[in-house]
Amino acid sequence: MSFNFEIKSAQEDSLARVGTITTPHGQIQTPAFIPVGTKATVKSVLPEAMADLGAQALLANAYHLYLQPGADILDEAGGLSEFMNWPGPTFTDSGGFQVLSLGVGFKKVLAMDAKTFRADDVIAGNKERLAHVDDEGVTFKSHLDGSMHRFTPEISMQVQHQIGADIMFAFDECTTLHNTRPYQELAMERTLAWAARCLDEHKLLTEQRSTKPYQALFGVIQGAQYEDLRKKAAGDLGSLESSDQSFDGFGIGGALDKEKLGTIISWVNQVLPQEKPKHLLGIGAPEDLFVGVENGIDTFDCVLASRIARTSAVYTMEGRFNLSNSRFKRDFTAIDDECDCYTCTHYTRAYMHHVFRGKEMIAATLATIHNERFIVRLVDQMRQALLDGNFADMKADFLGRYAHRSGQASD
Ligand SMILES: [Zn+2]
Repeated sequence: MSFNFEIKSAQEDSLARVGTITTPHGQIQTPAFIPVGTKATVKSVLPEAMADLGAQALLANAYHLYLQPGADILDEAGGLSEFMNWPGPTFTDSGGFQVLSLGVGFKKVLAMDAKTFRADDVIAGNKERLAHVDDEGVTFKSHLDGSMHRFTPEISMQVQHQIGADIMFAFDECTTLHNTRPYQELAMERTLAWAARCLDEHKLLTEQRSTKPYQALFGVIQGAQYEDLRKKAAGDLGSLESSDQSFDGFGIGGALDKEKLGTIISWVNQVLPQEKPKHLLGIGAPEDLFVGVENGIDTFDCVLASRIARTSAVYTMEGRFNLSNSRFKRDFTAIDDECDCYTCTHYTRAYMHHVFRGKEMIAATLATIHNERFIVRLVDQMRQALLDGNFADMKADFLGRYAHRSGQASD
């Protein structure tokens, strides 16, 4: 078994720590941001460029790969890493979020701002529900061709073992902030029962596939915005043993009210076993990454950096703005003059403006490289600040500039 997490330095005044995750495909220095390649590709960017910009690992999605090309194809290829020509560590999320999103018609990532949140962003209204949950699993309709499928904890484990990522997540029932408290309780009980079934199936598959590299399994903590439910989930899953196995680490998922993000993470991380790695699922806005790190998160993933890049939106120390805005037509400076990425060291805002306006394919590539570098580097800088003992200063400095200028430089 070659999965290990070592804490190298822990803060005295917060839950933050610096560590190293070791997987069969290499190490991840934490805290770290893990870019998302949903369908075994970070859209428009070569794996070599992802490595050059400092990505230490990539996260793909089990639901998408199960539907296309099929998990058996990845198994035959020798696993996700081999298939996509990414030699480093990989993660897969369980597909639970995507499958259940079909049921409620999610359009957004899970960091929810309850105030600006419209009911129609979450609830599919009169539209046909594409997923149905029962105690055994979830039946859903493919978003690609309308064919019917079923995920259970066992099937999710089989799919994720075939895909072959170094770190997998247990199949959980993902709820929204709009579900009632009684429903959250029900979903949490179901997630706990499914967690034990995931551990059982994981043990079986690990034995059956003993020639393959060890794959680590993380449990997922649900419980929405309720302190007692979050702490109960952390206690139950943190101490869960089934088939002589416990989880190798934990993902914090589910409905997360942006304003309470730090509070919710600290409830959970005070209860979970300290020595195991913690991943925050689907969160990647700069201000949220600070909150995560200081509350003990080791790894993050989020599609936001690449998704917004394709619409010409970029992160900079001057805040977030859109390169297609006409004020950049004759701006021959870099996107961000403090950024060391390939795009910023070779291209100007004027060129980026031109390729976005012309709908050139290189626009997505160059903007994605910049945004992913910006976020990866920001978390790298947090890790260094923790080692240097000046995290609080670094945070105040970054947020002071970023938030201040974001207010001025709107899209
Ligand atoms: Zn850049």
